[in-house]
Amino acid sequence: MSETAYDPQNIFGKILRGEVPCHKVYEDAHVIAFMDVMPQADGHTLVVPKVPSRNLLDADPVVLGHLTAAVQKVARAAKAAFSADGVAVYQYNEAAAGQTVFHLHVHVLPRHDGVAPRRHAGGMADQKMLAEHAERIRAALQG
Ligand code: AMP
Repeated sequence: MSETAYDPQNIFGKILRGEVPCHKVYEDAHVIAFMDVMPQADGHTLVVPKVPSRNLLDADPVVLGHLTAAVQKVARAAKAAFSADGVAVYQYNEAAAGQTVFHLHVHVLPRHDGVAPRRHAGGMADQKMLAEHAERIRAALQG
C-alpha cells in the first residue's frame, strides 16, 4: 500500500484556505469549483469538497453526495457555456491511478464530437483565457 494520510499542504488545500488564487466558478457550503490550470479541454473545471480527504477511498459518503450534486450543476453549466456535445467526468484515486493532487476532486470536461482531450496535466494555460472561460461558466450557472 502506497497511501499516506491527508496532507493539508496540498495545492487544493491551499486554494480552499485562500492561500493560492484560482479562477473560481462556483462555491456553496460544501464545495468550490475552479478552472484546471492545465486544461484537457476548454472549460475543464475541478469540483473540490471543502471537507478534506485524499480521494474517494477515504471520503465520507455524505460529502460524496454533496460533491456529486455540485458536479452535476457544474457539468450542466460547462456544457452550456461551451456549447459542448457532452461532458466527461473523471476522478483518480492514488498515484497508480493518475492522481497528482491528494485532495479529493472531480474533473469536469466539456467534450465536442470528434475532438480528443489534451494530455492530463499537460501545459499551463494562459491566465486571461482561464479567466474568460470561468466567466462563461459563472454566467451559465446563473442562467
Ligand atoms: P489529478 O491527477 O486528478 O490529481 O489532477 C490534478 C489536476 O489539478 C490536474 O489536472 C492539474 O492540471 C490541476 N492543477 C494542479 N495545480 C492546480 C492549480 N493550482 N489550480 C488549478 N488546477 C491545478
